[in-house]
Amino acid sequence: MSFRSLGLDAAILKAVQETGYTEPTPIQAAAIPFVLQRKDLIGIAQTGTGKTAAFTLPILSLLAASPSKGIRALIIAPTRELVVQIEENVRAYAKHMPLTVATIFGGVSERPQIKALEQGADLVVATPGRLLDLIRGREKAFSHIEFLVLDEADRMLDMGFVPAIRQIVRLLPRKRQTLFFSATLSREIEKLTGEFLQEPETVEIGRRSNPADTVTQSVYEIPQHLKPGLLLHLLQNKALNVVLVFTRTKHGADRIARRLEQSGITTGTIHSNRSQNQRLRALNEFKEGKIRVLVATDIAARGIDVDGITHVVNYDFPPHHEDYVHRIGRTGRAKAVGEAISFVSKEDDDALRALERFTRRGIPRVKAEGFDDKAPAPPRERGAGGDRRPPRKPGEVRAPRSSSSSSSSYRSGGQPRQRRADTGGGSGGTQSGQKSTGEKKGVIGRIFGFGRR
Ligand code: AMP
Repeated sequence: MSFRSLGLDAAILKAVQETGYTEPTPIQAAAIPFVLQRKDLIGIAQTGTGKTAAFTLPILSLLAASPSKGIRALIIAPTRELVVQIEENVRAYAKHMPLTVATIFGGVSERPQIKALEQGADLVVATPGRLLDLIRGREKAFSHIEFLVLDEADRMLDMGFVPAIRQIVRLLPRKRQTLFFSATLSREIEKLTGEFLQEPETVEIGRRSNPADTVTQSVYEIPQHLKPGLLLHLLQNKALNVVLVFTRTKHGADRIARRLEQSGITTGTIHSNRSQNQRLRALNEFKEGKIRVLVATDIAARGIDVDGITHVVNYDFPPHHEDYVHRIGRTGRAKAVGEAISFVSKEDDDALRALERFTRRGIPRVKAEGFDDKAPAPPRERGAGGDRRPPRKPGEVRAPRSSSSSSSSYRSGGQPRQRRADTGGGSGGTQSGQKSTGEKKGVIGRIFGFGRR
């Protein structure tokens, strides 16, 4: 099938051609005709399927057919990154149209956003929270809305945005076309579609449980304390070129980024403690190839659309299989191939098994050549919360931590941990296997926690 046969406006077809797309993806082929027929639509599709173009192309095409009269299309998405991503897509597809676009999201000044609303941009892309703040008192600016898109609705539900969305939708004209995209179709999601859509058509592309076939998946069974070492070990392979690493927490993300940077691997982070500018800068640097690894948490990673991500690493295995599918959907996008690597420790066994049941597919267990995945944890990591000391203040002199006899003996003698690595500490296999280069020595140091502040 060709884009031409879908009945899109000529200006849009030209832009699509210049983008380099040769044919519509399945979600585009299925959804675009319904949108052009002015139908409400439920699109069930995971990221990476081309769903953004599936709703932006026909909306732009319909907008091109009528004169500008203020805000005519509103796209709501859960995160700032996704908003920026959608805006980029819109700008690329609308480049031969006289169309104005505005974005609305928190973490930056409201003033330019208010100005854009008051000037009546044709199309607005927004996160729910800031939009709700700004729409109040400016309802009139939204009275010409013809199109409403709710993107990643399941995620908006998870993030607690539904009350805000309800309030926003109440302020919009009833006579409008509503498109609703979600990666899953749970009962709650269905209830929302009943509230917001009228006689919708449904298109479902690829069951949610099936990660893209272009992604090769593997699992490394590894105890928690060896994860940093394994990541560094794997990154010695230059084929891991554009790497997105997922962690459960923002502090975890920062910790890993620091370790990678210390080993000379260019790394950025993207999570909710970082300012909007920092997040966008990290994303751009990643896109431009200035950094090799981007470490992200799930929520912040929504909307990361970077072509050519070669590897997604689940440094922390996600407890929910939806997150797994979302994460690995960041690689192997459109028709590219990619690899998804998961580090799985004992605590993750249940989640891994649940995922495999859900996808009805086993994920191969693999081992890293030359890496000892049985090396014991250093004594201080064996006890719960053993290294949770606050950072030392400048000039602060600390008493050694009281602990078991073996660990206190390491700490009281000047360079105790160094000695443990040099002597092998009973796990000679790993250490002798990995100490052949300076970097590998560093890896061992990090595995055993030396040099941490
Ligand atoms: P999405 O699912 O919207 O996040 O899109 C995933 C990726 O597919 C993005 O990098 C798009 O630029 C790309 N894409 C969208 N439509 C097509 C198409 N028809 N042919 C090739 N790539 C596409």
